[in-house]
Amino acid sequence: MKKFQKKLIPIRNLANGDQQNIEVLTLKGQEGGPKVHIQASVHGAEIQGNAVIYELLKILKERDFKGEFVLIPCANPIGINTKSGTTTQGRFNPVTGDNWNRNYVDLSGLSLEETNFDVQKFVDDMIKKNINHDLIKDHFKTFIKNAYDFYWGNFLKRKGPSDNKFLNITLQKLATQADIVLDLHTGPKATRYLYAGEFEKSSAKHFLTPFSLIIPNKFAGAMDEATFMPWLTLEKEFQKRGQSHSFGFESYTLELGSEETINEQEAKKDAARIVNYLNFKDLSLSDPPAPENPTQHYCLLKDYKTIYSPKAGLVEFLKSPGEGFQKGDVLASFLNLRGIDSLEKIKKAKTSLVAEEDGFVITHSTTSVIHEGMELFQVLTNPKPY
Ligand SMILES: [Zn+2]
Repeated sequence: MKKFQKKLIPIRNLANGDQQNIEVLTLKGQEGGPKVHIQASVHGAEIQGNAVIYELLKILKERDFKGEFVLIPCANPIGINTKSGTTTQGRFNPVTGDNWNRNYVDLSGLSLEETNFDVQKFVDDMIKKNINHDLIKDHFKTFIKNAYDFYWGNFLKRKGPSDNKFLNITLQKLATQADIVLDLHTGPKATRYLYAGEFEKSSAKHFLTPFSLIIPNKFAGAMDEATFMPWLTLEKEFQKRGQSHSFGFESYTLELGSEETINEQEAKKDAARIVNYLNFKDLSLSDPPAPENPTQHYCLLKDYKTIYSPKAGLVEFLKSPGEGFQKGDVLASFLNLRGIDSLEKIKKAKTSLVAEEDGFVITHSTTSVIHEGMELFQVLTNPKPY
């Protein structure tokens, strides 16, 4: 028997007296199985994840599974509602300029005074009391939640609330009971790809995503890192004491195509790939939808490169997201009409950008109006078959 719940969580009060909220849906299956936290649109223009949550709900309501889902569509009401003309400017807080996915908190990287997150003491305690593996996991989830509460209380005393922190800590607290966290994003104009920590590289391929970027097991401000760091710290502390525990916590950022658009057919495929991964993680979903199984490549983060535009102009992109290229291939052409006063100069108005090495286009800019130094492409180089 599946249980459905919805809950409104306040994010901030507005000057006119309105309140912004996020709606959190909880769907419980049978006992056992993973607790899965899925959020979409923390970057407001990146909306495909909401369509994917809808497809997941349709799949889950008709089938048996073990575990529990916490689903947060439109997880950043500020981002998704910030428009400039018809464009959704949802990547940065328009007031502070902060990126909505770089202001999470790594409990294990802050001081004990700020968090009370003493993992050494926690591990000593568990060993002294001879607590079993499963219970350690439960206790640690509570320990993390308490640390966020402690941090937030301290933070408020020192600095007062801030838009980004309020949202980020709220989402982190909602994820504390999870075994799996999926943060659904998109690129600008982009193919399907994901970010996976080194420790979860072998699991990540069950998402059947054409491209994967393997990131260090480190914190750089994003939700996936913020949620996996405490668990890696815990496992390390046990190792120091000669005990090996693998708690199986995993978190990922999934990049589901291009921003500012949703696509039902692609959302069904995205949902099928997510279910494929979750079944690998013991969701035990009956009669799962058949996922596509593309050729998969991965690279290390150092080989995921941004090509900043070496010149200015109006750009025609000649390689699409997902497409491979070789050294010497033309990636884009630039049109610059300034100063044409002879037939000879017409030829020079159009120039090319050539690839310096082999790779795959993962994203390119949404705009063709390009100033020198703007982000033009993000490319996966040194690709390895998965
Ligand atoms: Zn994003």
